[in-house]
Amino acid sequence: MDRQIVFKCPRTGMNVQHRLGDEPADRTHVSVSCPACTGLHLLDRSTGKPAGDRRN
Ligand SMILES: [Zn+2]
Repeated sequence: MDRQIVFKCPRTGMNVQHRLGDEPADRTHVSVSCPACTGLHLLDRSTGKPAGDRRN
């Protein structure tokens, strides 16, 4: 089940669209590769919000 989320890249401040779908459903957070800064961000699946960028 694909679901599109939009998150704000913590590094660049840009709004980035990401399609959820391949990630395991039992995880509350997913790491996505960010096209804005080419880094990885940990996002909350339910809200699509970054769950802290410190471990990056
Ligand atoms: Zn980013």
